[in-house]
Amino acid sequence: MQTIPSVEPVSLPILGSGVRFPVRRVYCVGRNYADHAKEMGHSGREPPFFFLKPADALFSIAPGENRQWPYPSLTKDLHHEVELVVAIGKGGKAIPPEQASQHIWGYAIGLDMTRRDLQSVMKKESKPWCIGKGFDHGAPIGPLVPVESTGLLNAGGIRLDVNGETRQSGDLKDLIWNIPEVISHLSMAWEIKPGDLIFTGTPSGVGPVVPGDQMTASADRVGSISLTVV
Ligand code: MN
Repeated sequence: MQTIPSVEPVSLPILGSGVRFPVRRVYCVGRNYADHAKEMGHSGREPPFFFLKPADALFSIAPGENRQWPYPSLTKDLHHEVELVVAIGKGGKAIPPEQASQHIWGYAIGLDMTRRDLQSVMKKESKPWCIGKGFDHGAPIGPLVPVESTGLLNAGGIRLDVNGETRQSGDLKDLIWNIPEVISHLSMAWEIKPGDLIFTGTPSGVGPVVPGDQMTASADRVGSISLTVV
């Protein structure tokens, strides 16, 4: 038999700790702020829907660092989507919303980077969006912050600046489906397990970035990350 290749398991740093958080799956919620749903041409409260990014699309950025982030292939319209990320510490299925908060391990600030042009073509052709969302490095993320430090996050600002100018500014209280409801819905479709991450949706103001642009994403009580597109 040939040598068996070794594959690095995916994990993320935990703020203020030498221990890392092992990552299992990366779920994302689509259109979860009304003003963003509207800018994408939708209205009303439709049930939440989910897609996945591969765990190794996570691109870890330390606080205070300004990490270079490679512009992905094939796209001419790369969009930023700033999102609060929830980390799951306790698994379960068919979790009622009133129990869902017990499954939260912590939070991070993340970016659901999107090859919008490729996503739009796939949407138009009723094909899966994977190429628009699930690409290499497509999920920049800061360190995890334990819920013991942040408290449960049901409200609080979330922002994205590009070259020092605010492009996205929202509040978690404006989520169409709040975090316990998202966990509940997700756990109806999949059994969630420790190590799962959930990107919870983006407020309005999504738009393109190009090489040379510097992005800073932040959420109250969670922190901020900075990266330069190269
Ligand atoms: Mn998103």
